[in-house]
Amino acid sequence: MKQVSSFTPSADKPAITIIGAGVIGVVTARTLQQQGYSVTLIDKDDPAEACSSGNAGILAAYGVVPLSLPGILKKAPGMLLNPSGPLSIRRQYLLRIMPWLWQFWRASQPERVEHIASALSPLLRHTVRDYQQLTRDTSAQPLIVSSPVLCAYKDEAAYLNDKMVWDLRAKHGVTWHTLSGSAVQEMEPALTKDCQFAAVFENCGYTLNPKRLVKSLFEDFMHEGGSFIRSAVQHIRPVNASEIRLQLANNESYKASRLIVACGAWSGQFTKALGEPVPLEQERGYHLTLSNFDGTAPRYPIMSPSHKVIATPMETGLRIAGMVEFGGFLPPDPSRATALHQHLRSLFPHISAGTPSSWMGHRPSLPDSLPVIGASKKHASVFYAFGHQHVGLSSAPMTARVMSELIANQPTSIDITPFRVDRF
Ligand SMILES: Cc1cc2nc3c(=O)[nH]c(=O)nc-3n(C[C@H](O)[C@H](O)[C@H](O)COP(=O)(O)OP(=O)(O)OC[C@H]3O[C@@H](n4cnc5c(N)ncnc54)[C@H](O)[C@@H]3O)c2cc1C
Repeated sequence: MKQVSSFTPSADKPAITIIGAGVIGVVTARTLQQQGYSVTLIDKDDPAEACSSGNAGILAAYGVVPLSLPGILKKAPGMLLNPSGPLSIRRQYLLRIMPWLWQFWRASQPERVEHIASALSPLLRHTVRDYQQLTRDTSAQPLIVSSPVLCAYKDEAAYLNDKMVWDLRAKHGVTWHTLSGSAVQEMEPALTKDCQFAAVFENCGYTLNPKRLVKSLFEDFMHEGGSFIRSAVQHIRPVNASEIRLQLANNESYKASRLIVACGAWSGQFTKALGEPVPLEQERGYHLTLSNFDGTAPRYPIMSPSHKVIATPMETGLRIAGMVEFGGFLPPDPSRATALHQHLRSLFPHISAGTPSSWMGHRPSLPDSLPVIGASKKHASVFYAFGHQHVGLSSAPMTARVMSELIANQPTSIDITPFRVDRF
């Protein structure tokens, strides 16, 4: 593999500090470094150990549909009552989540859904191309796979039942074709014959290992002269227009001249300290990865709208991921992994045995399914990049591009007004 070329920091560019070494922080750090900035990443843990480590790995150019849709109020009770269903609220968390759920429901109004889809579309559209570019000639390059993603239904009637979401996707530039009957099994022999209809997303892809992808980009960043501080940031305090003081875990003080807050589900503490509170929730999701199994893995990632899960063939095994659980930082619920295992068995009946491993992560989610991307409205030199909910892996490259444009005081490639921090 060819060595990455060297990027020399430019003396006339400000030094950048990023809190958070998940996919958003690392891709942003690497992008800024490639543009000649000197960048320091700070994380309380090693890079890619939080939400970015265990996601489904899909580069979801199609991911424009928000979670909150018209009719959600009618569907939610049924989902909550189903123990292996896609939605759950931990009893201890019920009262706490109510205000967030109220705003979530308000986001389901048709005109807001339209607004959200049109904001998400440019953030996601070129995700595969952007990752190919970011990883070109590096050790991460083989981890990016350009591939169709199948959305598998029992029959055409079930597909047509989801007409609202397909119409929304079509309106916002998502492309797909459909298959029925034996053509589904011909394309994907591993899939159950119970699925007789599929929509095949084009212009998509996946990574063979989301954790290794971010770690590998981080290694390139360090190799090219980036800096990393492994410490929790406890507090931030703007001093003047070009100085922000960070208090680190060991009580050390750190001076930043430009700061990007990119710490996923933990970002709310910093916006609050800066006088810009946001309703950021830790929307929990789970995966189960089956390795060493008997039978053939699927060729492509497969989404099942009825189970609300997605299965991805990864280098670590076959991963099935999904679930929306509200429970803050309470311990994981083991029954979620059991439910995922059952879904895997029903989608891929020829797969047996295997070694399962499970994981839970905290998606950084705002009630309108949009991230916060932009400059602080109160403090020059502070920037935000968090809240990427279900599509943080896919939207990291465009988020990073926008960050670099904002820092350079250039017009942004996409409209970022829907992502402003003071929209709530
Ligand atoms: C089950 C599941 C499946 C998913 N599938 C997909 C998918 O297929 N495609 C897709 O695009 N997205 C997917 N996502 C969403 C995606 O994983 C997230 O949107 C993304 O990982 C968020 O990245 P992040 O960098 O913002 O946050 P994180 O990865 O959580 O990183 C935040 C970092 O901030 C650090 N931090 C926090 N507080 C502090 C502090 N005080 N001081 C220092 N450091 C701090 C943390 O240690 C952490 O490293 C999925 C999520 C889940 C849960």
